[in-house]
Formats: sequence, structure tokens, C-alpha cells
Amino acid sequence: MESGASRIYDGIIVGAGHNSLILQAYLGRAGLRVLCIERRSVPGGALATIEDPRNPGFLHNTHSFYHRALNMMPWYRDLDLERHGAEYLEPALNVVLLSDAGETLEWWTDFEKTADSFACFSNSDAATLRRWREAFLPIVERIIVPEAQAPPLEPARRRALLEKSREGRLLLEVSRLSPLEFVRREFKHPVIQAGLLFFNGLREVDLRCPGFGHHIAALLAGSGKAQMCRGGSFVLARALASAVEESGGELRLETEPGRFIREGNRVVGVEATSGERFMARRFVASGLNPHQTFLDLLDHEDLPQKWRDRAGAFRYNLVAPLTALNLNLKAPPRYTAAQSDPGLEKAFMVILGLDHVDRYLEMVACHQAGRRPPNIMWGSCPTLFDPSQAPEGKHTAFMWQKTPYRLNGDPAQWDSERDSLGQEMLAAWCRNAPNLKENLISWFARSPLDVERTFPNMREGDLLVGAFTNGQIGYNRPFPGAGHYRTHLRGLYLCGSCCHPGGNVTGLPGYNCAQVILRDLGVHQDWMPGPIERRLGRL
Ligand SMILES: Cc1cc2nc3c(=O)[nH]c(=O)nc-3n(C[C@H](O)[C@H](O)[C@H](O)COP(=O)(O)OP(=O)(O)OC[C@H]3O[C@@H](n4cnc5c(N)ncnc54)[C@H](O)[C@@H]3O)c2cc1C
Repeated sequence: MESGASRIYDGIIVGAGHNSLILQAYLGRAGLRVLCIERRSVPGGALATIEDPRNPGFLHNTHSFYHRALNMMPWYRDLDLERHGAEYLEPALNVVLLSDAGETLEWWTDFEKTADSFACFSNSDAATLRRWREAFLPIVERIIVPEAQAPPLEPARRRALLEKSREGRLLLEVSRLSPLEFVRREFKHPVIQAGLLFFNGLREVDLRCPGFGHHIAALLAGSGKAQMCRGGSFVLARALASAVEESGGELRLETEPGRFIREGNRVVGVEATSGERFMARRFVASGLNPHQTFLDLLDHEDLPQKWRDRAGAFRYNLVAPLTALNLNLKAPPRYTAAQSDPGLEKAFMVILGLDHVDRYLEMVACHQAGRRPPNIMWGSCPTLFDPSQAPEGKHTAFMWQKTPYRLNGDPAQWDSERDSLGQEMLAAWCRNAPNLKENLISWFARSPLDVERTFPNMREGDLLVGAFTNGQIGYNRPFPGAGHYRTHLRGLYLCGSCCHPGGNVTGLPGYNCAQVILRDLGVHQDWMPGPIERRLGRL
């Protein structure tokens, strides 16, 4: 048992997801002594890779796998994560949509090849693709990326600054549309429309929701493509934990926070459910969701009614939950479509069952009704690119399908329905890649309820920890008053995916929170970007 004195830190972070670890490493490098408390036995949150206990040597990335443009992130470079063991792969044939008719729509790391693929469906859509990419290249570089990498601006101030430049005005104008309106207005071919909406769907934004029309144009222009971590997603967690350790930080695993300790209007520590107390001289940060942070961990009298109402009204994504089917294989999937296009053998992400926007709308309707949706699936065979994730000559592969959390009105239904959905997904996959049948060693499925059980912060199986609807974006994410990583109590901060710019493995909530805490402590570090207001003012 440590002495009482050694349990006093400069700062304490709860939940050891990647955002928390990034925050911890930056603050440690600034000279602060920081502890991170995690309930599981491993750090990294959804940077999870497990070995199948039935088939040793077969590794599965049961949560996040596709890490978009990860090695271009500022924290990846600042924390020198390659020296700590991380390495990213970015397969050239990055994404393929296989239509039921056997056609393929392809996204390459080389834009010209992507445009050629679009042209196979429609010359006019290929021209539109080029036009929007050119229009949005400077917007992504000068507005969207810097805004994601900084604490958000108050909306009226942001609008006023954007209205001063041509690029800013175009961004505001396109944003007014919903993704569905943007795609239907600009693109003609149903397969292209469906494929573009799929990418919007990966950000979990409701395709019918105005305010997000720029998402697809930004994706078309963004240079960042899907990447995977060599050795599995957990290798990034291990690299982050190593960077934390090097910065003098401590991790306390298998420890569940019970409540925040307040003195006056300041949070000064965390009491674990075991009764153990950890004190913080300067700050406590939460990498959890607003329900946990405000309603579970603060004493009733420490939370004003207005904050209680707002935290209680925080909403989770309807269409984010997913069911995963994971396979152990003797050979990689061979898609029938590859007979006429052998290049497909090296496709990274493969999308199945999505030929038309209407299928996507049907899927959304099923989520609303709590029904099992049509088999629109996407996945990969990681071992094609990284053989270290299976025994020699063997393979792993997975498919994901969006599925409602409240199946038939009750999430508990998943425990009896998960494996039958797994069978159904396997059958749909085999129709596209018939060799799976004879090469299957074993399989397992995981449901949205499994996700929530593993990560209670992903409430309702929402892997992005909070919808982008309900006004929960930018300065108002997670809710008005808490959208700048600070809370109503001094010393209490938010650093997880419920903050701007939201979920997925971007590390940016943690990166931005580090900027806010250090500014509040009057510490300047060379890596800190200038204020976003000044940068938008220069447009
Ligand atoms: C099945 C699935 C697939 C995904 N695929 C991708 C993908 O391909 N690409 C992508 O970018 N994103 C993906 N995501 C989403 C991504 O993983 C998350 O958005 C991201 O991990 C959130 O990071 P975070 O740091 O905010 O928190 P998390 O990674 O969720 O970590 C939170 C941590 O807090 C801990 N915690 C929770 N409650 C408590 C508590 N009460 N006390 C103490 N600790 C607690 C958890 O154990 C966890 O370690 C996927 C998620 C899932 C579930």
C-alpha cells in the first residue's frame, strides 16, 4: 500500500481511453505529476486487440480498427509514438464498395484512380467529385482541420469570422444542407450516392440532419485515408502508455472511481469505490460520458439543477451501435468480383449490400423501430496487410453491421439474438466470398450490448459517445456551458469523446483539453497551436 503522501498528484484523469492517455502524456511532459484511473485491466479503451482463447495466435480488434489519417495527427508526432512502437499501414486500394451486381466503386490513396473509378459509373459524377475536392481542399486545410485541433469557438463569433472569407462562406452555405440533400443535389448515380453516404455514416451523423452537408465534401477533399496499426490497435495503446510512463505519469488499473471530492467550488480528488482516495492539487479530468461524470460521480449537492438537466438530456447516436462478426480462417476471403478485377484481392475496407441510398434509409428506419436491419456490412481481412495478427499462413477477418441498441425495444434481446445475426451476416458474406465456407475455422459475434458492457462510457452501444444531433456539436458539445472542456466546478475538466470534435480514434478531445488545462495553469508549451480565433481571422 502506498503512503498517503504519495497519493497526492498534480492531476488525476478517470478512464484510460486514448484521449485520456494523450492528455496525460502532454501534461506529464509539461512537468505535472498525473495519475490515470481505469476500471479495466488494460489501458487504451477501445484501442483493444484480443487473442481468441479458442484459437491461440488469432488476434481480433474487437473495437476500433480503422484509424483515419492517424499518423498525420499532431499528437502522434509530438509524443513520438513510432519511437514507442506504433506503426501505421495505409493500403492503396483503401475502400471498395461491391454492388450486388458485382460492380466496384473504389477509393484509392491516389485520387486520380478514385476519379477513374467514379467515371466507370458516371462521367458527370467524376467531374463533380473533382469540383468539390478542389473547392474543399483549402477549406479542409485552413478551416476544418485547425478547428478540429483547437478548443471550439462560440458559434456567433465563428460565423462572423467565417463570413469574411470566400472559403468560410462556402463552408457555411454547404453546411446548411443535410448530407442526404448534398448528395442528392450533387451526384446522380445511385451507387455513388450510397457510397458517399456510407462515409458520412462512419461519422454517425444522421444523413437527414441539416447542418452537416459539408461532411461529404470534406471527406472527398481530406488527404487522410483509413489506416491500421501493425500488430493490432492495442499497439497504439501500448505506445501511448509508454509515452505516459516516459513523461512520469502513473496508471492505476482495475480501479473504479466512486465520486469526485470537492472542497469549496473546486474538485480536489477522486475517491475510488474501494474507498481509496487520490488527491489532485491542480485538476481532475474525466474521459467518461456526461452521465457518468456529472450524474454518477458528483454528489447531488455539487451539481446545480441546470447542469443536472443538461447532463440528463445528453443524447447518444441512434445509428452508431454495431454488431461485429469475427472470423478465424485458413485463407483470406476471395470475392467473386475479384475474378474480373484481381486488384480486389488487396482491398482494405470492403463494403457489401449497399447499392442504393434507399437501403441506407431502410437501415435508419430499422434503427428507429428497433428491428434487425438489412445486411449492409463493412470490414477487412487485417492479416492480408499484417500477417502478425494470425498464426503463419492463417488469417483473421471481420464484418461490422449497424444494428439498433434496443432490439425489439429491449437491449437484453441481444443475448439471444446476437449469434443468429452472426450466422446471417456470415451467410451474406459467403454469398460474396464463397471460399469462406471451406476455410472457416471458427467465428464469434459481438453486439451493441457487449460494447456497452465492456465500455460503460459507450452508453447504448454508442461508439462515438454522444450524438452530433441535439445541438451537441462544437462549443455546445456535450452541452451548453460544458463545451470548452471546463465544467461548473473549478479544476474539473472533460477530455473524452463527448467533447469537441467527438468520437472515433482522433485523439483530438484529449489534445484540445491539454491546451485548455495548460492555459488555465499559465503554462505555455511550444507544441500548442495559436488561438483558433486568430487563425480563422487570417483567412
Ligand atoms: C465496435 C467498435 C468499433 C469501432 N471502430 C472504430 C474505428 O474503426 N475507427 C475509429 O476511429 N473509431 C472506432 N470506434 C470508436 C472509437 O473506438 C471510440 O470513439 C474511441 O475509442 C473513444 O475514445 P475515448 O478515449 O473517448 O474513450 P474510450 O476508448 O471509450 O475509453 C474510455 C475508457 O474509460 C474507461 N471507463 C469507462 N467507464 C469507467 C468508469 N466508470 N471508471 C473508470 N474507467 C471507466 C473504459 O474502460 C475505457 O478504458 C469503434 C468503437 C467500437 C465499440
